[in-house]
Amino acid sequence: MHAPGTIGPMTPEAETTPEAEPTPEAGTAPTAPDEGATFADLGLRPELLAALSRLGYEEPTPIQREAIPPMAAGRDLLGQAATGTGKTAAYALPVLQRLPDERPGGDPLALVLVPTRELAIQVSEALHRYGRDLGARVVPVYGGQPIPRQLRALEAGVDVVVATPGRALDLLQRGSLRLGGVATVVLDEGDEMLDMGFAEDLEALLDEVPEERQTVLFSATMPRRLDSMARRHLRDPLRIQVAREVPTEGEAPRVRQTAFVVARAAKAAALGRVLDVESPTAAIVFCRTRDEVDDLTETLNGRGYRAEALHGGMSQEQRDRVMGRLRGGTAELLVATDVAARGLDVEQLTHVVNYDVPAAAETYVHRIGRVGRAGREGVAITLVEPRAHRMLKTIERVTGAPIKVERVPTVADLRARRLELTRAALRESLLGDDLERFRGVVETLTDEFDVMEVALAAVKLAHEATGGPDDEEEIPEVTLRPERPRRDGDRGDRGQGRPPRGRSGPGGDTERLFIGAGRSAGVRPGDLVGAIAGETGLRGRDVGAIEIAERFSLVEVPAASADEVIAALKASSVKGRKVTVRRERSPA
Ligand code: AMP
Repeated sequence: MHAPGTIGPMTPEAETTPEAEPTPEAGTAPTAPDEGATFADLGLRPELLAALSRLGYEEPTPIQREAIPPMAAGRDLLGQAATGTGKTAAYALPVLQRLPDERPGGDPLALVLVPTRELAIQVSEALHRYGRDLGARVVPVYGGQPIPRQLRALEAGVDVVVATPGRALDLLQRGSLRLGGVATVVLDEGDEMLDMGFAEDLEALLDEVPEERQTVLFSATMPRRLDSMARRHLRDPLRIQVAREVPTEGEAPRVRQTAFVVARAAKAAALGRVLDVESPTAAIVFCRTRDEVDDLTETLNGRGYRAEALHGGMSQEQRDRVMGRLRGGTAELLVATDVAARGLDVEQLTHVVNYDVPAAAETYVHRIGRVGRAGREGVAITLVEPRAHRMLKTIERVTGAPIKVERVPTVADLRARRLELTRAALRESLLGDDLERFRGVVETLTDEFDVMEVALAAVKLAHEATGGPDDEEEIPEVTLRPERPRRDGDRGDRGQGRPPRGRSGPGGDTERLFIGAGRSAGVRPGDLVGAIAGETGLRGRDVGAIEIAERFSLVEVPAASADEVIAALKASSVKGRKVTVRRERSPA
């Protein structure tokens, strides 16, 4: 056990205000690099810089700027940061940086603990991508996957293990996971792990890693129980919080701010829908990486928008050309990274779109500062994936301005809007155009039809000629789980099996969903809870009773979220395959 850390006492308020002023350790904190620092300025090795450049990351996010140098230097760290801040890379890069060049042994040098299967996969993929040129061997282990495969992967030799706590403990007890060589332990989403009932497993695991290790904890909130765990297991940790800068009064511009919560798979369609309804004169859509910029530009052009990409990988000449097209009105949408859009001033800009919730509140403020100038109306639109909704709350608190969460326009909304545009165009024509030469057409038709009928046919043709394609499918609505006080002592899913909890799980109205995979496909309760918690705004404990039959499973979820869960599970996979998901048919 370590000497107690020097973390200050947490007030109850601090449990839900991640942006509260931090208390860095006196005298020991290396000064964080300035805003504008590059990844190279953070002292990362060339192999990692090459990977980041390949991935199109143009600059570190604030949590990365602050966490990478001290963590790479071996310091314990306590980071309060939510999903969407870039926290994964903030710890993954230093973990890789610290790997020795020669790694003859097969036992892990770093252990990353995460609450869900989805996160384990996501984090191990990130480590794998960043660590490719270093030859880093990364193995995810989680409940639900057959143990033999994980045993083989561990036996083959591993540098970093990314694990859910239950499975890590299981493998440890079998003697397959050997932690004697671990130099760094990262606990990611600490609050979620406690929420899911992993407290004892975490304690047991932390007691098994060498005392001389580095320990790093990331969590969106800092409930008391987590704080006391940090006091016991972290040594003189540096404390880092993102989004703590409060803009000075008047800095946050007066802009209509809205957000739409959408599943990742539906984002491009949702953006198209929102743009159709908003009809911006000129808009900038901000993305995180160059690749995202290129992909989204292509998608939007495919949907009939005139979109141009702008990112740091382009030459000055290319950028100038793009800006010329936007200013001249040939392009209506600019899809850009923050770096590329820096200093850019487009007068006719009406809309700023955040394709993801920005990694820091300051970024949000800078971005939306580009509209709403000189008394003109500006609109800021943010697309929020369910897991990133906390960051949105943080931004709201920091900017002091409410962001209205709205429903993605439905097909009916869109039709109404298109009809409205046709009506406005006809009115304009009636007021301004010389329509005399069409009089003969109307007069001959009125011999046979009523004037109203003639008008209806003319409107139909005008509408079809100007309107876009009549829209596709409804975009599933995602409801955000309301923030709730946390309860201590809650023991939920351990990632590999849980007793059915009857109707007590979600509370309130529930619905049972049929999922077309069961025991024969190797499905276990943890797979379903993990898939649901990973893809929707629900948490493990919102999921109720689970029954696993041979060929199918039944899962109880809050009725209000049933559509969301169905859409999310259909868009993703259960045990690596696409499955049927629908409401359970009530017995005849
Ligand atoms: P996280 O908060 O770790 O879940 O990261 C959110 C997303 O941001 C992930 O898709 C990352 O790939 C991406 N990301 C992280 N750091 C950066 C960066 N410096 N530049 C661009 N994208 C990033």
